[in-house]
Amino acid sequence: MITGPSGVGKGTLIAELRRSIPELALAVSATTRPPRAGERDGVDYYFLSAPEFQARVQAGEFAEHVDYAGCSYGTLRSELDGKAAAGGAVVLEIEVQGARVLRGALPRATQIFIAPPSFAELRARLDGRGTDDPEKIERRLEVAQEEMAARSEFEHVVVNDHLPRALAELQGIVRSRLPAMLEQ
Ligand code: 5GP
Repeated sequence: MITGPSGVGKGTLIAELRRSIPELALAVSATTRPPRAGERDGVDYYFLSAPEFQARVQAGEFAEHVDYAGCSYGTLRSELDGKAAAGGAVVLEIEVQGARVLRGALPRATQIFIAPPSFAELRARLDGRGTDDPEKIERRLEVAQEEMAARSEFEHVVVNDHLPRALAELQGIVRSRLPAMLEQ
C-alpha cells in the first residue's frame, strides 16, 4: 500500500517498481475524475460517472472509497481479491484516508508513505505537471498539508528527493516483503 500527497511521484515510483519487480500487480482504482491525456480506462483507472460510482458504492463493491479534491476514488474489492487470488502481490496507490481504512481491513499489508523533500518542492511539481488548473492545485496542496502530518502513522517513509535513490529504497522494502506478500 503506497500513499503520500498528490504530486509526490507515487505513480512514477510505482511504474518503475513494477518494471523491476514483475510479480507486482497493480490494483486499478475507480474514479469519477476525468481521464488526463494518455490515461487509459481499465489500466490507469476505471473511469466512472458519478451515478455509476454511487451505484457501486451502494452495491458494496468498494473496499474503501473517498472524496478527494472534488472527485471520488475507491479501491474495488474485485481488484484486491482477483489479483491476490491469481497468486500475485498487489500494490495499491492510495491517498491517506483510504490507506487508514485499508490498514484496518488488511493488517498485514506493507504500508509505505512517499514524502516530498519539502512542501515548496511539492508545489513546484504540481505546477510543473500541468495537469490541473490552479484552483485544483490549491485544493491538492491543502489536502497535502494534512497528509504530510500523517506520515508518522506509516511503517515506512521514503523521501522522494531523487528518483533513483527513492526507487532503490522502495525496491529494498518491497523485495524484503515479497515472499510474505506472495504467501498471503
Ligand atoms: P490523481 O487524481 O492525482 O490520480 O489521484 C488523486 C489522489 O487519489 C492520489 O493521492 C491518489 O493516490 C489517490 N487515489 C488513487 N486511487 C485511489 C483509491 O482507490 N482510493 C483512495 N483512497 N485514493 C486513491
